[in-house]
Amino acid sequence: MNTAIINTDRQLPVMEHFYTIQGEGFHQGRAAYFIRLGGCDVGCVWCDVKDSWDASIHPLFEIDELVSNVQQTATKLVVITGGEPLMHNLDALTHALQQAGFETNIETSGAHPLSGSWNWICLSPKKFKAPLPEILPAANELKVVIFNKSDFLWAEQYAALVSPGCKLYLQPEWDKAATVTPLIIEYIKQYPKWELSLQVHKYINVP
Ligand code: SF4
Repeated sequence: MNTAIINTDRQLPVMEHFYTIQGEGFHQGRAAYFIRLGGCDVGCVWCDVKDSWDASIHPLFEIDELVSNVQQTATKLVVITGGEPLMHNLDALTHALQQAGFETNIETSGAHPLSGSWNWICLSPKKFKAPLPEILPAANELKVVIFNKSDFLWAEQYAALVSPGCKLYLQPEWDKAATVTPLIIEYIKQYPKWELSLQVHKYINVP
């Protein structure tokens, strides 16, 4: 696993980039351009993008090139994901995207310092490497992946730390969905501050 923090502003390692719909959370269903950056040191055992972990195997892209790719689509929304995108300084990328008129959303575990200018921060904390305290009040959305029963209590610990307006989502881990989705449904019925997030893109087989 590559744990190096890459601080280059104008170039970033990109595992993949594609135009699709956002399948998860608050913006689910919206057309969005995804930029999946390489590099992650969080080490989730159930990670479905382990190829992203080693940043060094992914090609470096110029920020101007990334913005130009997005401009070739009709979207207004760009989602920066990973890997753990905050292993990189994202100030230059997000400023360039916003100057070009795009909304910038991030999906992060919060395990590295917050950089970038964001219209929406989706914090998805992981047990394997805790988020830094600084990101909790900045999160617009808390999305907790439920892998087993003990994760509900863990989710509540973070729900108590985010801002009052933060949206709260519980999302079944994909391989455990058959087992944990019924538990999540019952939990949300009991504690309706939470909402269900499904990985809709996987059900409809789009990236
Ligand atoms: S934080 Fe995301 S990319 Fe990193 S190991 Fe966990 S699920 Fe995979």
